[in-house]
Amino acid sequence: MHTKYIFVTGGVVSSLGKGVVTASLGALMRARGYTVTAVKIDPYINIDAGTMRPYEHGEVFVTASGAETDLDLGNYERFLDLDVPAGSNITTGQVYLEVIRKERAGDYLSQTVQVIPHVTDEIKSRIIAAGERAGANIVIVEVGGTVGDIESLPFLEAIRQFRFDVGDEHTLYLHLTLVPYLGTSNEFKTKPTQHSVATLRSVGISPDIVMVRSKDNLPEEITRKIALFTSVKPNRVFASFDVPHVYEVPLALEEQGLGKAVESLLELEHIHPNLGVWQHAVRVIKSPKKEVTIALAGKYTVMPDAYLSMMEALLHAGIANDARVNIKWVNTESLEEVAQIEEHLGDVDGILVPGGFGVRGIEGKIRAAEYARTQGVPYLGICLGMQIAVIEYARNVVGLSGANSTEFDPYAPHKVIDLMPEQLETLDLGGTMRLGDWPMKLAAGTRLAKLYTVPQGGEVSERHRHRYEVNPVYVEQLRAAGLIVSGVTPGMAGRGAGLVESIELSGHPFFVGLQAHPEFKSRPMRPSPPFAGLIAAALLRQGAADREVGSGQWEVGSA
Ligand code: GLN
Repeated sequence: MHTKYIFVTGGVVSSLGKGVVTASLGALMRARGYTVTAVKIDPYINIDAGTMRPYEHGEVFVTASGAETDLDLGNYERFLDLDVPAGSNITTGQVYLEVIRKERAGDYLSQTVQVIPHVTDEIKSRIIAAGERAGANIVIVEVGGTVGDIESLPFLEAIRQFRFDVGDEHTLYLHLTLVPYLGTSNEFKTKPTQHSVATLRSVGISPDIVMVRSKDNLPEEITRKIALFTSVKPNRVFASFDVPHVYEVPLALEEQGLGKAVESLLELEHIHPNLGVWQHAVRVIKSPKKEVTIALAGKYTVMPDAYLSMMEALLHAGIANDARVNIKWVNTESLEEVAQIEEHLGDVDGILVPGGFGVRGIEGKIRAAEYARTQGVPYLGICLGMQIAVIEYARNVVGLSGANSTEFDPYAPHKVIDLMPEQLETLDLGGTMRLGDWPMKLAAGTRLAKLYTVPQGGEVSERHRHRYEVNPVYVEQLRAAGLIVSGVTPGMAGRGAGLVESIELSGHPFFVGLQAHPEFKSRPMRPSPPFAGLIAAALLRQGAADREVGSGQWEVGSA
């Protein structure tokens, strides 16, 4: 079939949940059997999100190809159950870097290099390439920001040209706006939507579908009013109204007929979607049989989006265990001062120390790991969280006092976590960590091998994003003192061979650390094994678990 392109723009204000709408729309088409991919356009000048503050922009999502991207890419992967290919997060910086490179190389011969056509062509070819890499029938392109922003103009122009290039029946424009509800006068207000659609029209794009964010589903007269003022048929006006959980969004949109509208606009045959995954997820989220509380001992506790994939992975692990997972946010700086750590961690069923950078709150994290180890509380350490567990073990079990990571104390007497050799040559901060999918070879019989259902040992692959590693010099000492190295980077030519990928303890209900970030691969229909293991262990601690930790059977059906 001819590739179909759906463009999602936003108006009125940012943070309307355009990413979730894009991902949900993708899920509806995926549920009809299409191969769907999604592309995020971020009109900022940064090359990628890797150098941006998580507590301002939310987490940096890492793709299989090693791109450091906007967190929406994580939503795409979770809702579409796919690994987005390289080039799925396009920024102004990337586009200009390439156009300028081509200009210097003489690729444009003697032409004057301009926004139209050179920049717009570059944008279009990147969208097409991302779709081709994914082998997609349907490519959904989300344009970040709101219409009217100066920086999004070249992107809007590029997507406008797309319809001209590939045809009406192969392109669809969906515009997301806000319909505020004024409590004082008891009414939904459509004026911002009218203005926003007018702004979009002023750059030559007439939306085929108008979707509004609203408090509730829209009364019919409001839908008709929006249709009248925007010249979009009433059955092409949809509401993404507030629902308790984002996994309800695909269901709510399908119920309103979004899937059918897309089918007829793109001249696709009508297919009944299989939304079993979402129905099941929502059922468990709404009425789980069990409940656990996990302490998330991190730094950006005021900005939950900084840990979006982590929270999603906990949710998926909860779904697989028919349990609600409550998250107790513990700012580890506060753990540094308290005399009794029980006051903060005594009431939780498990402790998760997530990834992170920088020295702030580190000693608190080390105390949390010590508490988990000595009190038998299930512990999962992700990336930095694994490094923390190793530092704690080195100090308190091996007896290497002052053990630390060179990231936090360059003069530590025992640098048990140290910069990876290849990082020594790197001065640039952007895109220079060990990034993306890397294999880990799991040792037979370890808990991790059982969780990943490779009990005889074998390789699995997880996303990475780090500069430091367990210092190979200390591995034998740590092992001799009882730390189990459950996974290493398999022997490969060059980088990374033999790197400690994961650790665990025996004789503890669940104490697991991974250098990787398994949360990035967790999906509602296929939870991440270490997270599923943590939740199962936390339930076991409560005496409520109905299966053995590490049984590894977590599939809950597929789309
Ligand atoms: N700061 C640590 C490193 O660079 C951990 C990184 C992380 O947790 N993503 O190795």
